[in-house]
Amino acid sequence: MSEIAEKAPIVDLGLPWKPGFRTLGPAFFTVLRPTPLPAPHWVAHSEAASRALGLPADWHNDASLAAFTGNAAIAGTEPLATVYSGHQFGVWAGQLGDGRAILLGETAGGLEVQLKGAGRTPYSRMGDGRAVLRSSIREFLCSEAMHALGVPTTRALCVTGSPQPVRRETLETAAVVTRLAPSFIRFGHFEHFAAAGREDELRRLADFVIDRFYPACRTDSRLGGNAYASLLQAVSERTAEMVAHWQAIGFCHGVMNTDNMSILGLTIDYGPFQFLDGFDPGHICNHSDTGGRYAFNQQPNVAYWNLFCLAQALMPLIGEEELALAALGAYRDRFPLAFDAHMRAKLALADARAGDGALVERLLRLLAAERTDWTIFWRRFAHWRAGAALAPVRELFVDARPFDEWLLSFETRAAQDCGHPASALATNPAYVLRNHLAQVAIEQAQQTDFSGVQTLLTLLQTPYQEQPGMQAYADFPPDWASTIEISCSS
Ligand code: AMP
Ligand code: MG
Repeated sequence: MSEIAEKAPIVDLGLPWKPGFRTLGPAFFTVLRPTPLPAPHWVAHSEAASRALGLPADWHNDASLAAFTGNAAIAGTEPLATVYSGHQFGVWAGQLGDGRAILLGETAGGLEVQLKGAGRTPYSRMGDGRAVLRSSIREFLCSEAMHALGVPTTRALCVTGSPQPVRRETLETAAVVTRLAPSFIRFGHFEHFAAAGREDELRRLADFVIDRFYPACRTDSRLGGNAYASLLQAVSERTAEMVAHWQAIGFCHGVMNTDNMSILGLTIDYGPFQFLDGFDPGHICNHSDTGGRYAFNQQPNVAYWNLFCLAQALMPLIGEEELALAALGAYRDRFPLAFDAHMRAKLALADARAGDGALVERLLRLLAAERTDWTIFWRRFAHWRAGAALAPVRELFVDARPFDEWLLSFETRAAQDCGHPASALATNPAYVLRNHLAQVAIEQAQQTDFSGVQTLLTLLQTPYQEQPGMQAYADFPPDWASTIEISCSS
């Protein structure tokens, strides 16, 4: 703890706090303070997130700037960093933990507040405990964008920056993202105690998660009334829902290590993520992922693999292998149902019919064959469904004949449907955080102009509605977009 940290001023954010994660006891965390950063400044903030947190209207001021940079203590909080382990790129990585994230506490409203990039912790290993401005802006924008899209995700309240240099491939500057979630507990937290054979702590953690977030597991009579198997089943279902939504929206996470998997089925740890431009099912968004383990079309299987790791970790509590396998089966059942439901919603089909899966499959093959832009195709298709001309959809194809044939089948099918065609506009966004959009805003921010970040935030908070003067943000990516390389470096 630095001398400055000891003398940190205390800020009262006007939030009531409760013990939350810390009731688990010291085996799960280390109490510590953020390390201050020099000359902090605001980069961006989300009023929507501040309302979710319950902050007062005048929250955005010098005192909160200090607090959310880690330069001031927040009255009522006792910050800590948690310990977890995990499998990274399919290999057991041993102990990891919050190497640069510090949990400030949990509000009475039930949201944990975490500072990412707030300095070294006992779990930093070789890292500097910092996050750079570039990756912090990406995480901030994408968290809020995913929330507005309706995808389960952690939220982000703000980003603050500092001139403090941070070395990555080049010299960059430090930033801190304030993240919000009901819990930041990961699969890796369970793996940590299971791998060490610490069954008491494992049970305490599972009980904590069940009591707080999955109370129905206590009374679930399926799976022999085994609450831990029931927990695994519930997590499997939520994970299936999350990944199905990713696949529908064209979101590639990029680093689906088990330590980046939320026990609540929230999208967490935005790093080298990408929204697809052209539809390439095998797209790899993480430049560090040379083997393509986390390619777009691998995500559903990888999620299952990760759930399997969670199941192994929970085995000492579940006891019977058959129960664990049955619980995992919920993922295999739920994922295709959830994915089909998303695809039907994208097509504005209300009721499930035999043959829908094949119809979707045919369309996906056409889109893949021409690398048709995922977001633009669906948005134009939605407009057509809502009554606009077909030409803007057809002209996306170099060879429109196979699409015309598909459309004949689709129209026959749609004619038997009782849904509202215009509903497609509410499931196919006009705006997503494409890499090049983030990149432009980041480069401006690196020159101390943060207006681009705030503009993107505002736009992405209403992704299902075209906004005047913003057509460029809904357009095809420029050629240089394909040269952007996003790696694990952050
Ligand atoms: P990530 O790939 O960002 O999910 O990080 C994997 C692990 O490395 C987590 O335990 C992080 O806390 C840790 N980590 C990543 N970057 C840093 C850093 N700059 N300093 C300390 N720990 C880090
Ligand atoms: Mg992580």
